[in-house]
Amino acid sequence: MAKKAFKSESKRLLDLMIHSIYTHKEIFLRELISNASDALDKRYYLSLSDENIRFNQDDFYIHIAADKDARTLTITDTGIGMTREELEDNLGTIAKSGSLAFKSENDLTDDVDIIGQFGVGFYSAFMVADKVEVTSRRFGSEEGYRWVSEGADGYEIMPCDKDTVGTQIVLTLKPNTEDEQYDEFLDEYRIRGLVKRYSDYIKYPIRMMVTKSRPKEGTDSEKPEYESYQEEETLNSMVPIWRKNKSELTQEEYNNFYKEKFFDFEDPLKVIHTSADGMLSYKALLFIPARPPFDYYTKEFQKGLQLYANGVLIMDKCADLLPDYFGFVRGLVDSADLSLNISREMLQHDRQLKSIAAHLKKKIKSELAHMLENDRETYEKFFASFGRPLKFGMYDNYGADKEFLVDLMLYHSSTEQKLVTLQEYVSRMKEDQKYIYYACGDSVAQIDKLPQTELVKDKGYEILYFTEDVDEFAIKVLMKYEEHEFKSVSASDLGLADDQDKETEQKAQEEHKDLFAFMKETLGDKVTDVRPTTRLKSHPVCISSVGELSVEMEKVLNAMPNDQKVKAERLLEINVSHPIMATLDRLFAQDKERLKKYTGVLYNCALLMEGLPVEDPAAFSSDTCELIS
Ligand code: ADP
Repeated sequence: MAKKAFKSESKRLLDLMIHSIYTHKEIFLRELISNASDALDKRYYLSLSDENIRFNQDDFYIHIAADKDARTLTITDTGIGMTREELEDNLGTIAKSGSLAFKSENDLTDDVDIIGQFGVGFYSAFMVADKVEVTSRRFGSEEGYRWVSEGADGYEIMPCDKDTVGTQIVLTLKPNTEDEQYDEFLDEYRIRGLVKRYSDYIKYPIRMMVTKSRPKEGTDSEKPEYESYQEEETLNSMVPIWRKNKSELTQEEYNNFYKEKFFDFEDPLKVIHTSADGMLSYKALLFIPARPPFDYYTKEFQKGLQLYANGVLIMDKCADLLPDYFGFVRGLVDSADLSLNISREMLQHDRQLKSIAAHLKKKIKSELAHMLENDRETYEKFFASFGRPLKFGMYDNYGADKEFLVDLMLYHSSTEQKLVTLQEYVSRMKEDQKYIYYACGDSVAQIDKLPQTELVKDKGYEILYFTEDVDEFAIKVLMKYEEHEFKSVSASDLGLADDQDKETEQKAQEEHKDLFAFMKETLGDKVTDVRPTTRLKSHPVCISSVGELSVEMEKVLNAMPNDQKVKAERLLEINVSHPIMATLDRLFAQDKERLKKYTGVLYNCALLMEGLPVEDPAAFSSDTCELIS
């Protein structure tokens, strides 16, 4: 019988498979098993829709057999089977959907990636086999047919005997090469692992003869001799945990599943088991880990959820299912609406994924909000681990999700001495309080001592402590919370000096005009101005900033590895009611050289309080020593 040639599109795909440098050749088994499962579905459907056909549940199974001597792997199913025409049509041509993914003929690397993510069905068998035999008998037919191909040069179809309905695929594995041990796929342990990994949740049993050992009869029961024997075993668990009802599952089962599946040694902080029906149906099982994985803050970290199409794993880390700020969430999504076929059509795939992703995003947020409301202690643990990405989430994309995330934020409060939400802050605001005040620094302890906080604290206003570099940027993007603007305690205009304070400042300004001008000249362009202030209580000086760019932001931006350095507009403010004023006045009249040194030291002290580096440590240190000796 003459060999038939593959249709040209199929040939191209086949070539790609045969010569694939693709490293995950192992997915061929997943592909063949899921084809078998589809065929079983079709036959099962017949039994449901035609009451003349009665099947026994036991009739539906997939069987795997490895023969090391013959170097063959055989996958048998009791599914719907194929007629001669179907063998010809289905295996001689690729379904149109499959070909779509292979648009770019020349860019092999791209194509190879698509294979990895979505699988390519039947032809993937040629990644590991140099001969494939498909023997099939269609349900309702008495005749069997065999389709045989040794690769790109074509295939043959011939009639054959087949006792039972269904399909049997025999792969003759390629010879081993230096890099590839194809016979690993004959290894019982390896097969078991692949089924567990990719096809555990196929709803039909996947069986295989496995070797076991037992004590030999008649041998000493204390020190028995063992003999090995063969027994058929079902390799897959068939019912995935996420398909079960919540009420059937214990916390421990969830935790164990999480730890096994996602390689964590700690229980998750939160389990989210959810499903949707209707337009798009899916089940999702999500976990919030207790701690970030070790690589979380590196660029090696990949976010993503496992994606299953009807119980078949099609993607290990589907990044599109999670926004970056929820990238720490682990788990999986299983949707009946994402068949392996559909998944190949990128566009359609994309649309469905997007709407699942939108649901999940809302769900995760509402679960976190619920935790914040009802289990503050756990939420604080969560926030210590993952508050940072949430803050970046407010800031990302020009603040696209800032409103969505803002109520999940926690900041240390000056009055409560614990973490508070913006909602809690606003609910406590004083009647005459216009702004939400915040102070930036490296730690709560450091901020607590900032001179700039004194006046605001004196007023009895609460201050939020921003200890992370992203905090102030995020708040700038947010702009307002419930109509209240944010105000840094280091802003030159705090919006709370009353008329009397303003008058005092103005008078001092007039009185010491020449002194301040001299000090400003001494500092040159290090500061925009030197001014008297009433905002300080016990401290002699502070640095404040004018405009949008704060001194803290300057610090963060300048720490970034690029050449563009920015500079906040700094004011050196002198406490008018501090004894230092008298000293400065005296020096201005008697010893201008000494005044210059005082000015430099005071400026540097203000920098130090802000957590900014002293500009010339050697000069600062020698001036200070000279002045105190
Ligand atoms: P896909 O499964 O994505 O359609 P494949 O190349 O894997 O693409 O398979 C092509 C077609 O061959 C299937 O759609 C199905 O009709 C048929 N087929 C493959 N394997 C089997 C099987 N074990 N039993 C019955 N039909 C099968």
